[in-house]
Amino acid sequence: MVISKRMAPLVEGSSAIRKLFEEGKALAKVVGKENVYDYSLGNPSVPAPEAVKASIIRNLEEKDPLYLHGYMSNSGYDEVRQAVADNLNRRFGSEYKGEDIIMTVGAASGINDILNLFLDPDDEVVAFAPFFGEYRNYTAMAGGVLKVVPADTETFQINIDALDAVITERTRLVIVNNPNNPTGVIYSGETLDRLQAALARAEERIGHPIYVISDEPYRELVYDGNVLPFMPDHIRNCLIVYSFSKSLSLPGERIGYVAVSPRMEAYEEVLAGLVVTNRIGSVNAPSLMQLVIMDCLEEKPRLEIYDSNRRMLYDKLTALGFECLKPQGAFYLFVKSPIEDYKAFIEEGKKEHILMVDASGFGCPGYVRLAYCVSPEMIRRSFPAFERLAEKMKERGNKA
Ligand code: PLP
Repeated sequence: MVISKRMAPLVEGSSAIRKLFEEGKALAKVVGKENVYDYSLGNPSVPAPEAVKASIIRNLEEKDPLYLHGYMSNSGYDEVRQAVADNLNRRFGSEYKGEDIIMTVGAASGINDILNLFLDPDDEVVAFAPFFGEYRNYTAMAGGVLKVVPADTETFQINIDALDAVITERTRLVIVNNPNNPTGVIYSGETLDRLQAALARAEERIGHPIYVISDEPYRELVYDGNVLPFMPDHIRNCLIVYSFSKSLSLPGERIGYVAVSPRMEAYEEVLAGLVVTNRIGSVNAPSLMQLVIMDCLEEKPRLEIYDSNRRMLYDKLTALGFECLKPQGAFYLFVKSPIEDYKAFIEEGKKEHILMVDASGFGCPGYVRLAYCVSPEMIRRSFPAFERLAEKMKERGNKA
């Protein structure tokens, strides 16, 4: 083998979600695309707002191409960083300066930049199950080890009681994803205050600070009038990672940012370090997209479309007897396998052409994730298949 021992297991175990997506494509060739109910990928189903297109055109027509396509400061255009800081400060009463904002190649590179900054080999990062499966790979790429706090399957809030046992002298970072992929749960301000208190106790014990990555690509996707707590109001050493992939439906354009809280410990050291890991990792975020998001910071996602999908799928599945968490945010429905053998449940789903993601990869076996960022027609078409699946599960349950 020519590739590194560090990468080999990552290549070997490479994305179960992607594999499912490929299986879906193969199935579509046999039974027809309209007869496959693909709930696998978190790819927004709502097109980017018109304002994005208008801004792209305006920038191309009006800006000096040398400016538009050239290198800029590695952390991004100053005016873009200032606009992002102003937007956060106005909305959340925070006190970011432009220089606290580092433009990144989506959330993924923001997280990677932070991991690369903080981790020495075998240092530990803590995630709360269920969590976005890529955290495991990002951490391994940076030479660290992901330690998982088991899920609280009663509330699916952060399992703070189990946190202490997972934190060791090697813990440098904790990742919190709010609203959560895959559950759609919002962690409350009270939960986050308890988390801060638990971290402060742990820091005392291990003798160094723990930093929190607040991964927030779904910040704008919140339903039923719920309010998402602003993380730095609750967590002291907080690095916000944001992405426009979901809120502006721009996942292919790769644009996001990290906001470094001036309240954190060793703020200047962290900020200076992050500028460098970002430069080494990706040089800078895409120039045109930086200027576009500056124009579109006030744009809101078409929440009503995801909300209607959410209600439709949740209502139908619960009516069929499936145990589902009612999503408060993001665009995922988290469903408990009705039978002990959850892999058999997923396979039976496939026989009905329903593609559901096994939550084992998210650290929570026994559950599946359905991404409802799909067309409402596909959801409606999938209902007879779910009815048959529910029937089969009942028969199996009766036999057990
Ligand atoms: N974090 C979470 C929780 C996600 O769900 C995703 C993408 O699905 C990402 C990070 C990566 O987002 P980006 O496309 O901005 O890199």
